[in-house]
Amino acid sequence: MKIVALAGGVGGAKLADGLAQILPPEDLTVVVNTGDDFEHLGLTICPDLDTVCYTLAGLANPETGWGRAAETFHVLENIARLGGEGWFKLGDKDLATHIERTRRLRSGESLSQITRDFCRAWGVRQVVLPMSDEPVRTIVDTVEYGELPFQEYFVHRKCEPRVKGFRFAGVESAKPAPGVLEAIGQAQAILICPSNPWVSIDPILAVLEPSAICHRPSAIRHQPSATVAVSPIIGGRTVKGPAAKMYAELGITPSALAVARHYGSRLTHFVLDKVDQMQAAEVENMGIQTLVTNTIMRTPEDRRRLAQDVLNFISPL
Ligand code: GDP
Repeated sequence: MKIVALAGGVGGAKLADGLAQILPPEDLTVVVNTGDDFEHLGLTICPDLDTVCYTLAGLANPETGWGRAAETFHVLENIARLGGEGWFKLGDKDLATHIERTRRLRSGESLSQITRDFCRAWGVRQVVLPMSDEPVRTIVDTVEYGELPFQEYFVHRKCEPRVKGFRFAGVESAKPAPGVLEAIGQAQAILICPSNPWVSIDPILAVLEPSAICHRPSAIRHQPSATVAVSPIIGGRTVKGPAAKMYAELGITPSALAVARHYGSRLTHFVLDKVDQMQAAEVENMGIQTLVTNTIMRTPEDRRRLAQDVLNFISPL
């Protein structure tokens, strides 16, 4: 079964890894958020793309879920000693990725081309695509500071400012990266991974929808295809990150049901955790089939089991 997974960073990467443990590599395409990308220390950093690639390559730090395993931070420590910016944690191995990517971007190569070559070098056999080759930058509108670039909000200010809304700068002119619409067109299912709906998945949908949903409705929801989401909110909370806090600050009670409503009529199927079983009926009332299962992925086996549950759920199609 050909699957296109839409993913942010850590939550998305874990389920993508579960799918990669089961599906033949040619059956999995992961389309990754680039709204978190930013320029730092003169380098182009693509946190979600790198998290997905490192995870699929088996190179990710198992403690954090992001960055590289067995990492050192000599370069960053020495930059900070010189009075430079040390707030965004970039390890030495990770820096090699950013330096080489930045060099190639400056020489005119596209992000999708560079990502394809890096994946080959790291031994990733699945297709990993940035959502777009054109820059899209998530801007967080906050009560305290007005608009903040995403990493300024997320890492520098530790998600403390209260959010009022989001904007994806550059999205109007950003086209899906080469291969994205083709993969969607051939997929039996689109899987929205358990990533932050506001800042990991919405930027991808914002890029896809003008072409894939509005102008080509069959690309996202053609029968007999499915669009299935796995809730990143469990028992009203996130496993990590600010998604639940964002819902609350925007006046929406954080819940799996809120996530199902967030994606709305795009969904044919929705997966929620056993602790949220009571919400399944209300999601079913929206015309969306539900699967209630364990959705916490602590181990590689958890990732595989959840991926298998999702595939079994949609496979009658
Ligand atoms: P980020 O860009 O690294 O913040 O990563 P994502 O947007 O992909 O992931 C953040 C979301 O993943 C949070 O809302 C978490 O609740 C969710 N998440 C992380 N781990 C798990 C997990 O094991 N199960 C589920 N269901 N959600 C998870």
